[in-house]
Amino acid sequence: MTKTIHIKEQARESFGILTEISGLQDLDVVAKEVDAENLLHLYCVSRWDVAVCPDCGEISQNLHDYPRQRRIHDAPLRGQKVLLIFDSVRFDCEACKKPFTQPVRDVVPDCTYTQRLYEEISDPKRKQDVATLAEIYGVGYKIVESILLKAGEAKLTARRVWCKNIS
Ligand SMILES: [Zn+2]
Repeated sequence: MTKTIHIKEQARESFGILTEISGLQDLDVVAKEVDAENLLHLYCVSRWDVAVCPDCGEISQNLHDYPRQRRIHDAPLRGQKVLLIFDSVRFDCEACKKPFTQPVRDVVPDCTYTQRLYEEISDPKRKQDVATLAEIYGVGYKIVESILLKAGEAKLTARRVWCKNIS
């Protein structure tokens, strides 16, 4: 597949403040759009022209392709619900002779939401139920459930490690 988001030279700079307030680590905002439901679409591109191969640690700057466009739910910005839209990028690793996907630290691996949204929804101080959380964050029930499940598992793992350390 090919790139779906094309940018003008100045775009990163023009949207620099939005990138900064979004706290993004690996993405730069390059365009925005508000849809009929007042959902803020932030179009992004990768901040880096290189990536580290997860198998061998070799740095690559050989672009392979843009396998798909991703649509990722993010935490609200000043009360407005946010969707990040960007092309995932694959690089070729010369050492391994195969392509790999550039990691995006802002997104929970293999999920459709950001780390920031995960942290907000899984905050143990929140007492809302799944339906209320889904409404507040503008995401489906399934996403809220998957976040709460993941957070529960993470807590269990942490407890197991802790028990191992004291025993
Ligand atoms: Zn490699």
